[in-house]
Amino acid sequence: MTTKKETLNFQTEVKQLLHLMIHSLYSNKEIAIRELISNASDASDKLRFEALNNNDLYEGQSGLDIHVDFDKEKRTVTVSDNGIGMDRDEIVANIGTIARSGTKEFIGKLSGDQAKDAHLIGQFGVGFYSAFIIADEVTLETKKAGEKQGYRWQSKGDGEFSIEDIKKEGRGTSVTLHLKKDEDEFLDNWRLREIIKKYSDHITLPIVMKKTDFKGGESIKTDEDETINNASAIWAKNKKDVKAKEYQEFYKSLTYDNEEPLAYFHNRVEGTQEYTSLLYIPSKAPFDLYDRERGLGVKLYVKRIFIMEATEKLMPQYLRFIKGVIDSNDLPLNVSREILQDSRQVESIKSGTVKKVLTSLEDMAKKKPEDYKVFWKEFGRVLKEGPAEDMVNKDKIAKLLRFSSTYDESDEQSVSLQDYIERMKPEQEHIYFITADSYSAAKNSPHLEIFKKKKIEVLILGDRVDEWMVSYLTEFEGKKLQSIAKGDLDLGKLEEDSEKEEKKKIEEKAKTLVDTMKKSLGDKVKEVKVTHRLTDSPSCLVVGENDISGNLERILKAAGQDTPDVKPVLEINPTHSLIKKLESFSGTADFDRYAAVIFDQAVLAEGGQLNDPVQYVKNINDLLVKV
Ligand code: ADP
Ligand code: MG
Repeated sequence: MTTKKETLNFQTEVKQLLHLMIHSLYSNKEIAIRELISNASDASDKLRFEALNNNDLYEGQSGLDIHVDFDKEKRTVTVSDNGIGMDRDEIVANIGTIARSGTKEFIGKLSGDQAKDAHLIGQFGVGFYSAFIIADEVTLETKKAGEKQGYRWQSKGDGEFSIEDIKKEGRGTSVTLHLKKDEDEFLDNWRLREIIKKYSDHITLPIVMKKTDFKGGESIKTDEDETINNASAIWAKNKKDVKAKEYQEFYKSLTYDNEEPLAYFHNRVEGTQEYTSLLYIPSKAPFDLYDRERGLGVKLYVKRIFIMEATEKLMPQYLRFIKGVIDSNDLPLNVSREILQDSRQVESIKSGTVKKVLTSLEDMAKKKPEDYKVFWKEFGRVLKEGPAEDMVNKDKIAKLLRFSSTYDESDEQSVSLQDYIERMKPEQEHIYFITADSYSAAKNSPHLEIFKKKKIEVLILGDRVDEWMVSYLTEFEGKKLQSIAKGDLDLGKLEEDSEKEEKKKIEEKAKTLVDTMKKSLGDKVKEVKVTHRLTDSPSCLVVGENDISGNLERILKAAGQDTPDVKPVLEINPTHSLIKKLESFSGTADFDRYAAVIFDQAVLAEGGQLNDPVQYVKNINDLLVKV
């Protein structure tokens, strides 16, 4: 019956992966079994989903389960399912190549630390190949639901695999591991049971093994089937009946995370919409948190049947760190991506769930500040994407944000906007902030001088996402968020009348200097002005109230985007001795040199790059020689 047998080469990445897997994960042997069971479960979910629209696929056999068996004589362990199966092309595509683009990155991330690497393997779904950790040969036999032809795939994990046609009875897949010589531990009922309980207890299909009897001190396999796992959906249970330990175990089986989750929220919503959500916040950010193409972490179930990995229709990007399940009682079972697209029900599940997450976070901040600190450190930068993505919940999100500030001068972001408002001076109207491309650049910005002198608190924003965030979050509780590097500095009532008069006088006195400087700098600047921000520095750059900031301009340029051509305003401090010196050069050739240096230094102080660094060095040197 067997026809053509063909031998094919693994894709290079697969070879690399196999090599690494075998050599770096030999002490994580259990994951081989775990991954095969997980694939069997996925295959059954897929069949169930497809069969919603085509019941014939069941061919009269709709009871789905997973069988785990072993054979002491042949030294094999077999995991079989009656799920969707694969056709020939699918075999080649799914277990001959690695389709996911992140694989190279994945391989680079493997650290040699076994616990960490095992964790990564789960996240990346390169699970099938882990079979080769304990097997020196793997045979996979499969038949796709609704088709006649079966196939056998076979490999020794050494660079090539073979495929041949076979006759196979039922649909689905069975994977047989031919164990390596030291792996006899898996030829044991209790050992396999233990692994199933540990990793797969929450799989919602029965995992079945043959029962073992003890006779005369020997264990003998019987013909009787026995279900090993719990096979119940814990989110469908009453909160009271689920122990903390069970929540944690479920989290681990869902995410393959080795660590306990930081928090979880289990919530049943009744009324017009009925759904349950069980959501987790991990205690550590995954390394690919910033890869927006990675899947979101929430799975959609309908009446306890897995439907799909969540899309943005269920969870917004700025909450992409949330893991868990949402199970609806109302959605049609044959919900498709198209239905998800514009379903009112889905919309309302999403908005309800997002609100729940935000409220739970607020709760955590109040009641478990230490946990919130951990949360913020790991996921704060993602949450900062919120105000731009979710207008509706902007205020709720704003309350959750934490920043560095001049109040405690620490790079740990711990100041909330509410804290800030409580500390505001009675005459203060705005929430002041400064952005730069790092905490230290922002903290040392000359723009802060007057604020420090007057003891006005300023938020220090040094994360990349901050620029983006403040362009959406322009107000909090009626207070405007004001950049201190934009527009004319108007401290309003924070300034005494006498100070204002003093300012005018200084401006008048410096008028000629300002004009001469503008002439000298030409179109490098929009304007030269007397500053009221600086106390210690000679100069700084400012942009118009509605122009993009220098920091944002640099971010956009680095990302290869076009930026509007904005000329900065140069503000000078006439009381600074350098500016006084400059004044004394009026009418000489050194004036231009001096003026150029002062401008360039303002650019550098912002963390900017000089257009012509060579000219800067030359100017400085010429001036140094004359000292
Ligand atoms: P992942 O499960 O994350 O996709 P794996 O390496 O575990 O990665 O599996 C690769 C692919 O092989 C699966 O996505 C699936 O398409 C296919 N596959 C593996 N095992 C089975 C199975 N038992 N039944 C059907 N398809 C399977
Ligand atoms: Mg898998």
